[in-house]
Amino acid sequence: MVASDGAKPHYKTIALFDVDGTLTVPRKKADQSTLDFLQELRKYVKVGIVGGSDQIKICEQLGPKAPIEYDYLFSENGLVAYKEGEVLAIQSLKKHLGEAKLKELINFVLHYIADLDIPIKRGTFIEFRNGMLNVSPIGRNCSQEERDEFEEFDLKTGIRKKFVGILREKFAHLNLVYSIGGQISFDVFPEGWDKTYCLRFVEEEFSDIHFFGDKTFEGGNDYEIFMSEKTKGHTVTSPVDTVQQCTELFIKPAKEALQC
Ligand SMILES: [Mg+2]
Repeated sequence: MVASDGAKPHYKTIALFDVDGTLTVPRKKADQSTLDFLQELRKYVKVGIVGGSDQIKICEQLGPKAPIEYDYLFSENGLVAYKEGEVLAIQSLKKHLGEAKLKELINFVLHYIADLDIPIKRGTFIEFRNGMLNVSPIGRNCSQEERDEFEEFDLKTGIRKKFVGILREKFAHLNLVYSIGGQISFDVFPEGWDKTYCLRFVEEEFSDIHFFGDKTFEGGNDYEIFMSEKTKGHTVTSPVDTVQQCTELFIKPAKEALQC
């Protein structure tokens, strides 16, 4: 690409990629062929990675040098943001809410769980993560059998739904989002801390922001960024499909333009 101002080449297009299911088989390492393709793609557009996992997990999947191998690397949806190997910004729940509000929320959750009459309780009722709280009425360190029983109990009684309803009302002023997932817990995080969070780091520089993800349906973790007015969203079914779609969209037209 040639800059319109005649200066050194620059790029107005960026392609952002989800990790699990888009660049890798979920939770697995990426194939070398996919990683090679991403480097090839960087000759045509800027490439950014946006994963929900933390950076350690993303580096396990994409390789230890991932932060310097892509134009942007956003782990935890961009709470930890890298540009060309340099840290751009780091955000956390602790920083965002402040200790006083965080303590108020945690105290309420623990009290509520203490008063909850459910068949069994174990330990680790709140898991404190960088960008969210994970709350489990039974406690995260229960056995698989206990998990299954809790899930069934919750389906019948709606323990988690009711809990979330109360938190939503009581802490409305904190603008938090509650996401019931898995068998035994729900996540609590600030509004907008989904994958759209990372767009603040690229929206000024790029006129064309493409996003590729596999869970673009409502309720999926790619839904918000896929639907965002700031992006052109693409649904993919596998890493192979991702490579195919990007080839059609970015590489073929550029090569054809060269031949003209
Ligand atoms: Mg995915």
